[in-house]
Amino acid sequence: MKPRKIPLRKCVACNQSMPKKELIRVVKTPDDVLLIDLTGKKAGRGAYLCGKQSCFKLAKKSRAFDRALKTPVSPDIYDALEQDFIKVEDEFIAGKEAVDDEHDDE
Ligand SMILES: [Zn+2]
Repeated sequence: MKPRKIPLRKCVACNQSMPKKELIRVVKTPDDVLLIDLTGKKAGRGAYLCGKQSCFKLAKKSRAFDRALKTPVSPDIYDALEQDFIKVEDEFIAGKEAVDDEHDDE
């Protein structure tokens, strides 16, 4: 039997490949708006980032989103996304823990 393949995506900052649920997706919508997409289902070109602020900072420094999304991203947008990233990080980590903990009946 073949093991089931887990879809891997690469973090645009540190270039590590990881399962999709370990990564936060940043999407460029058809209206050219950059958003953090925790559902992973929004339409548009996506870039993935580890759920770590250090990787966001690295992406900002190396302008990784410009390359990954093939669009110029202004420093203001990086700043705004960083704020959002910090906000969703807790939710993201909580979501992962909820998935991992299957014995919680609460
Ligand atoms: Zn990373």
